[in-house]
Amino acid sequence: MNNLKRYAIPAIGLAAVSCGGPGQQENQDQQHPNVIYILPDQFRNQALNFWNEPEYQQQVNWQADPVHTPNLDRFADESVVFANACSNFPLSSPYRGIFLSGMYPERSGIVLNCMEERPGSELRQDATCISDVFKAQGYSCGYIGKLHADFPTKNNPQRPGTYVDERHPVWDAYTPAERRHGFDYWYSYGTFDEHKNPHYWDKDGNRYDPKEYSVDHETDKAIAYLRNEHGERMDGQPFLMVLAYNPPHSPYRSMNDCMEEDYAYYKDMGLDELYVRENADTTMKKALAARYYFANVTGVDRNFGRLMKELEDLGLDDNTIVVFTADHGETMCSHGIDEPKNNIYTEAFTVPFMIRYPGKIRHRVEKTLFSAIDIMPTMLSLAGFSAEIPESCEGRDIAPMLLENGEKCDIPQSALYIKNVNGKRDEDGLVRSFFPVARGIRTAQYSMSIQIDPDCNIKDVKLFNDVDDPYQLYNIDYRQNPDLFDELCDLLRAKLEEANDVWFREGYMDRLKY
Ligand code: CA
Repeated sequence: MNNLKRYAIPAIGLAAVSCGGPGQQENQDQQHPNVIYILPDQFRNQALNFWNEPEYQQQVNWQADPVHTPNLDRFADESVVFANACSNFPLSSPYRGIFLSGMYPERSGIVLNCMEERPGSELRQDATCISDVFKAQGYSCGYIGKLHADFPTKNNPQRPGTYVDERHPVWDAYTPAERRHGFDYWYSYGTFDEHKNPHYWDKDGNRYDPKEYSVDHETDKAIAYLRNEHGERMDGQPFLMVLAYNPPHSPYRSMNDCMEEDYAYYKDMGLDELYVRENADTTMKKALAARYYFANVTGVDRNFGRLMKELEDLGLDDNTIVVFTADHGETMCSHGIDEPKNNIYTEAFTVPFMIRYPGKIRHRVEKTLFSAIDIMPTMLSLAGFSAEIPESCEGRDIAPMLLENGEKCDIPQSALYIKNVNGKRDEDGLVRSFFPVARGIRTAQYSMSIQIDPDCNIKDVKLFNDVDDPYQLYNIDYRQNPDLFDELCDLLRAKLEEANDVWFREGYMDRLKY
């Protein structure tokens, strides 16, 4: 735990300028860009209408959902748009651990989704997170929305000695100041799924229950942050703002889950219109969820548009890097499975990822297998802090290939897929370890995952040719295609070694029983 290089705080980072101070001068001298990271939960990469436009359609071999996303479509035209961005562990908490710390789950501390029964899974307090680095460089750092990176404890600020949620098992959590990793503006919660009845805690632990659609409400907060309405940030200093919406995550069952104006685009659509792909099983009970899910996609788009307009009105758009992405996708009735995430199917494992940095990076569609693990080093580098990337970061800095006239860099050729499940429980029923039940790899052509039991017997192999079979309708039989399987196993082995994964350290690939 102590052998990680700690980030040294340079003197320049301590030159805090108070609100109303000599901000103007600082503003003109500002070299480093602001960073806005927009992170809706469970947002399918396919739920972006622009993919059906010719420029984009020729880059992918699947169709976009019939969604209304005009603001994101416009943004895509100004951004680098990734077609194959991957969530290494397509589940809320593990993704957030990777994104925030730049480390794979075994080092970030988040090996499983965070909740009451899993005391071992939470963001390590001593991890050097992306926000710790920006903070040390003099940035204001704001976090708005869903965090889901902490183990719930009885630290309810309103009722000390109790959990913030009275239902068991407890999922939601309050994150105290010492666990906020440099975020000095705070309006957040752990995890909670009532889109029109959200709640938040501010930096002092005050609780708010605004009874509003969470995406509308959080965008209002984000706009106030941009305006610096109430001294949310240091005037004249650059900022990092993470805006982590819960929608279009479930629930998506009724008008309790979305706004009328967004639902209006989909209310008259039949199943044959809602589903454009041949891998969807529209006989599933869940099938009509697509209307409410798409309504939330449009709700996110509508608010994204409001935020971008404000950024422009304030004249901040030129020197601000804006990222739009998600923690994982949503299979939405594909393959007839109920679990919308936590698998290697393209619709769950890949995510939207768009970066806009005016004057610095050119619009294009990028097919690189950019992974969650690469986000922290790449974002720090894009903002001009390549020398400050902590040694603890395990991914690649691909900023040089994104920047105009950029130099060559180590471009990822594949993405690691990780799935852990509960390991052994103690006498109190608490999960004290994890079992690394599946590992896999996505390359430019194939997706493959191997699921095992504790004796290393292979329980399931998914193997798809994503070039010939974009909807992953045909699971290639690995026993009948040993050469292909061996080739992909070699690539997976190398990736596991690179990630210092438990499958590598304990030699799982050589112990597999067929
Ligand atoms: Ca999630």
